Amino acid sequence: MQHSADRQGRGHNLSRIPVDESESAPRLKSARSVIHPFTRNHCLPMMRRQRTIARTSTVTGVGLFHGADVTLRFRPAPENHGIAFQRIDLDETVLIPALIDYALPLPRRTAISHNGVTVETIEHAMAALAGLQIDNCIVQLDAPEPPVGDGSAQHFADALMESGIVEQSALRSQLVVRNKAYIFSLDRREELTAIPTKTRGYKLTYELDYRHPDLPVQTAVLDVTPQSFLDALAFARTFVLEEEVAILQAQGLGLRMTPRNLLVFGADGPIDNRLHTPDECARHKLLDCIGDFALLGCDLRGEIIARRSGHRHNRELVRDLLIAHPHANEVIRQQNRCLEFGAESTHRFRRVS
Ligand SMILES: [Zn+2]
Repeated sequence: MQHSADRQGRGHNLSRIPVDESESAPRLKSARSVIHPFTRNHCLPMMRRQRTIARTSTVTGVGLFHGADVTLRFRPAPENHGIAFQRIDLDETVLIPALIDYALPLPRRTAISHNGVTVETIEHAMAALAGLQIDNCIVQLDAPEPPVGDGSAQHFADALMESGIVEQSALRSQLVVRNKAYIFSLDRREELTAIPTKTRGYKLTYELDYRHPDLPVQTAVLDVTPQSFLDALAFARTFVLEEEVAILQAQGLGLRMTPRNLLVFGADGPIDNRLHTPDECARHKLLDCIGDFALLGCDLRGEIIARRSGHRHNRELVRDLLIAHPHANEVIRQQNRCLEFGAESTHRFRRVS
């Protein structure tokens, strides 16, 4: 895949900044946020209309961990449906809502399950949907995982853009971070902080510091919009350290992956491959954050700063925000009613133009 120089992120507030190791973060774990449903008395000017795709699109390929051949279809869905996955190779009657309540604690990836049906490694497809602000969609697939493509979200973003994106009548709620939320490992090596933002936007920072000689310290910052996602993040590929590959493959995972179709970092950088941008790894971690935070089931307004964190921390932050604000759950439920629509909703749906 070719990537032009304009993907350096200029104009999208994506920049490299130094990590301030002396910065002290509070040890108190807390979360105070508020969700804004659209009402006559409580309307936010930045609130937008829900969106779906105009027509079905298809992506084929191989799954990252299990290596199964897979065909994935993005299908339109009605307003207030939300994002749901459907395993058409198993029980077609089961929809799996892409919400944190359905998340499984699997390592190194994001998985969801409902009524005994599971789909794994959904984060890059979720990032494409959330990055493009597509709120209502059925994601059908005939294998345990979506196709990995080149390890980025580009193949999903291309398919969704090809489908066409349409606005619907209903409005999309926002969860607005009011006070700090903080997730951290006991040794403070991994941290995830959500803070209010004055810009009414959704800003993400990822500070990547694996303290590994082959992977330099790097930081990516992005004000997330559909355009900035397409220009600055969608192409960023997943990566793995050379020593981790043997561990995964000993577990029977990633057997169809090679350094040519996945960034594998050895002693001299990527093996048999080259980076699209010097900070591609930090950008990919931002992409993962967008996919995982989409498990909120609503828009997020605030600034989130991640340091060395991963999918597990992302899920913890989503849960923390929701636990601290139980009133948000009902609003989110109203806008993610796929289980009420049922698995046949994709056939009944009429395009909204
Ligand atoms: Zn990823």
